[in-house]
Amino acid sequence: MSNLESTRDTAAGSATGFELASPSRPDPADIASALERNRAFAAAGGHEGAVVLPNLGLFVITCLDPRVDPAHFLGLGLSDAMVVRNVGGRVTPEVINDVAFIGQLAESILPDGPLFEVAVIHHTQCGTGALADDDFRGRYAERIGARESTLRERAVLDPAATVIQDVERLRTAPAISRRVTVSGHVYDVVTGLVQTIQVGT
Ligand SMILES: [Zn+2]
Repeated sequence: MSNLESTRDTAAGSATGFELASPSRPDPADIASALERNRAFAAAGGHEGAVVLPNLGLFVITCLDPRVDPAHFLGLGLSDAMVVRNVGGRVTPEVINDVAFIGQLAESILPDGPLFEVAVIHHTQCGTGALADDDFRGRYAERIGARESTLRERAVLDPAATVIQDVERLRTAPAISRRVTVSGHVYDVVTGLVQTIQVGT
C-alpha cells in the first residue's frame, strides 16, 4: 500500500467509517467507455425534450462522492433539477454565488411568488471526515493556500448537524432572494434513504 492510500484510509476512515476498499486504477479506457455510452445516449434521443428551466423547482447541493449521485437516489432525470456537487455538499461562498445567480435569473422570469427550493443534502460516511485529521488537513491547507480553521469546519462528521449550519448559511446570505426556499436533508449511504432534517422555509 502506498503512503497516499494509507493516509487516506487513516484520515477518512477513522472519523467517518469511509473506506477506500480496493480503489480502481485510472484506465485510459474509462473515458472511452463513457464516450461510448454517450453515443448510445444520443442515438436513443436521450437529450431530446430537455429544457433549460428545470421540470422541478429544485436546486440540489450535495457531495461529489460517486455513491451520492442525485440522478440515482432522487430519481432525477435530465432537465429535472439544477445540481451543484462539491466536496461534502458544503455551502461555500462559491455555492452561495451560484444560488444567487440562478435566483437572479428566476426573478427575471417569475415576477412574484416562490422561485425554487434549494435542498442541501449531506451524507453519512462522507470522505470530508479526512479534514478532521490534523496531518491530512495541514497538508491540504498548505497545498491549496487555505486557512486550516476554515477547512476543519468543512468536515462532515455529523451530517444532521452540518446540514443545519449550511441551511442557515443560505437563509442568511444577503445575496439569496427571500423568495428562495431552503431545506436540509441527510442521505444514508447504507439504507439508501434520505431523511429531512429541516423542511423548506
Ligand atoms: Zn461526501
